[in-house]
Amino acid sequence: MADLRCDVLIAGGGPAGLATAIALRQRGADVLVADAMTPPIDKACGEGIMPDSRRDLAGLGVELPVSSGAEFRGIRFCYQRSSASADFPAVHGLGVRRTVLHRVLADHAADAGVRLAWKTSVAAQTGSPITLNGEPVRYKFLIGADGQTSRIRAWAGLEEGSLLTRRFGFRIRYHIAPWSPYVEVHWSSHGQAYVTPVADDEVCITVMTRFSARQLPESTRSEQLIAGIPELREHLMGAEIITRERGSITTTRRLRRVTRGDVALVGDASGSADAITGEGLGMGFRQAHLLAEAMNAGNLASYQDRHPAVMRLPQAMARIMLLMDRWALLRDRALRVLAHDPALFQTMLRVHIGEKPLHQFLLRHAPGLGLRLLLPSLA
Ligand SMILES: Cc1cc2nc3c(=O)[nH]c(=O)nc-3n(C[C@H](O)[C@H](O)[C@H](O)COP(=O)(O)OP(=O)(O)OC[C@H]3O[C@@H](n4cnc5c(N)ncnc54)[C@H](O)[C@@H]3O)c2cc1C
Repeated sequence: MADLRCDVLIAGGGPAGLATAIALRQRGADVLVADAMTPPIDKACGEGIMPDSRRDLAGLGVELPVSSGAEFRGIRFCYQRSSASADFPAVHGLGVRRTVLHRVLADHAADAGVRLAWKTSVAAQTGSPITLNGEPVRYKFLIGADGQTSRIRAWAGLEEGSLLTRRFGFRIRYHIAPWSPYVEVHWSSHGQAYVTPVADDEVCITVMTRFSARQLPESTRSEQLIAGIPELREHLMGAEIITRERGSITTTRRLRRVTRGDVALVGDASGSADAITGEGLGMGFRQAHLLAEAMNAGNLASYQDRHPAVMRLPQAMARIMLLMDRWALLRDRALRVLAHDPALFQTMLRVHIGEKPLHQFLLRHAPGLGLRLLLPSLA
């Protein structure tokens, strides 16, 4: 490696690390990103970019062309052959293969003048200085963008916090034309399977379950879960699987602190919301803006102060949706209410993408909704 010194060292060149690097370069910082993998980096992901995430990415100057994936106009919940749909109010979401998104971000970072060190492992041993492929490195600031099992987080003593939910997520892609203009979320007693259109002839299916391999031992977990959802099984009958199953843990994690001294965390390293929210990428893009602003102003404390606001809504939505995952009766009644009341679902979707305040929604709708959940005849 040529020059092992920089203003800002970013450990991890996933979406959050690259977005932060771009935001910092726009403010003139000398940024080095180190990642152990080679681009384009793939990962288990539902590959849906929600309208708010798309907007925040565009705010970094990264416009994903529609031709890079497939747009979706809203969300459809499907359960026992009934369904409820809600459209986004203005901008559509975009389904994009993870490798395509990574390629676009990496190219953008390189064009902006970010120094990119691929196949470069960041070692962070407690009590020892950071090294890159075993070589010492000098930096003024270190950013941990190394994902949910972040070593930088442990190294900097930032592990304290709470793990609110933990599940398993798996992704496979099928060669088949998308049959719906929505991201479909199919609910079952084993978890959810959500279908994201990613091309004219391809869908990405992500399965999320709280059951471990020991509890769901037969075949792959995604195929097993899909097989248990008749509507989805029928759609996919005869369609070719074009990627091997990729899995990952998905968590809702809240940290007490995301900065210490000259170290800051961003993306999944800094906390997360269960993948069912579809907000993981967007949270990373929002944090990238805030962190670059804070560093530019020489005030990391402002990032610490503003970070919880980015996490609050997705984490609240994750907890609500996981109550529906765990309690069959609640799931049954909630999905029935949404199917009967599309306007309510529409409003909830607006809350989810940050276009309507959650507290306003709760004040207005919570009592009526509670009653309808308790007394299904009112649904
Ligand atoms: C099953 C599933 C489905 C999801 N679906 C969606 C979705 O549809 N929409 C959405 O917005 N979000 C989704 N998410 C969440 C989203 O994938 C994550 O929030 C996002 O990947 C976080 O990006 P990141 O850059 O923080 O971390 P990562 O993408 O994990 O990147 C971390 C990077 O750090 C590198 N790294 C780690 N350790 C080291 C080291 N020691 N040295 C060098 N490099 C290192 C890794 O190689 C990796 O490239 C999903 C997540 C899961 C698990």
